[in-house]
Amino acid sequence: MTAPATGQAANIPILMYHHLADLPENASELQQTWTVAPKNFEAQMNWLSQSGYHTITMAQLVAHLKRQHPLPVNPIVITFDDGWAEQYTIAFPILQRLGLIGTFFVYTTPIDRNSYLSWTQLSEMSNAAMDIQAHSLTHPHLRTLAPEEAFKEIAESKRILEKRLGKPVVAFNYPFGEYDNAVIDLVKRAGFESAVSLAAGYKQRQNELFVLHRIRVSYLDTLEDFAKRLPQ
Ligand SMILES: [Zn+2]
Repeated sequence: MTAPATGQAANIPILMYHHLADLPENASELQQTWTVAPKNFEAQMNWLSQSGYHTITMAQLVAHLKRQHPLPVNPIVITFDDGWAEQYTIAFPILQRLGLIGTFFVYTTPIDRNSYLSWTQLSEMSNAAMDIQAHSLTHPHLRTLAPEEAFKEIAESKRILEKRLGKPVVAFNYPFGEYDNAVIDLVKRAGFESAVSLAAGYKQRQNELFVLHRIRVSYLDTLEDFAKRLPQ
């Protein structure tokens, strides 16, 4: 992919997943917003693979936007939030079978607890070239915290993941998608090179490295809906 000039947009979709599960008929709109059925997820991954998309890591995305490092054609980032256990049991095997990289934004406090990923699983995923990035310690509302508390949530999550997994953590994911200029400054001060938001779209810009856009995939999306949101 051709490198963008400064300020120009690069077409790099960042997909966003949370839960992977089958929902009951009477599931709430909220549940449907943050869940994708395993069968649909698999169909989406098969489609990406067959359509010539190439998954990249957050570090590759940063290197491209900051330093114009070349990317494969049709680059895409596949992100998973919050470290739910099914991201290992359901997503990881599908990604591995297709040779795709997933980026997993985990918050560290619930790791090893019921229904969350374990450190053993995270190590296995990291060793299998999956991209593990930071999503705070406890998933707080960062804007409501005192600056030193917010900084600890941001910086410590990076330090813990780097220590446990032995790989650089370059991207932060704002809990609840909540940020302001003060939070962005703390994320920069903690040494992150980028951050993802809930802003929609696939155009990424160097001057928006700390507010990268993502595409949410939801329960009722058909494969056609999914494909339509990507660069044509
Ligand atoms: Zn989250």
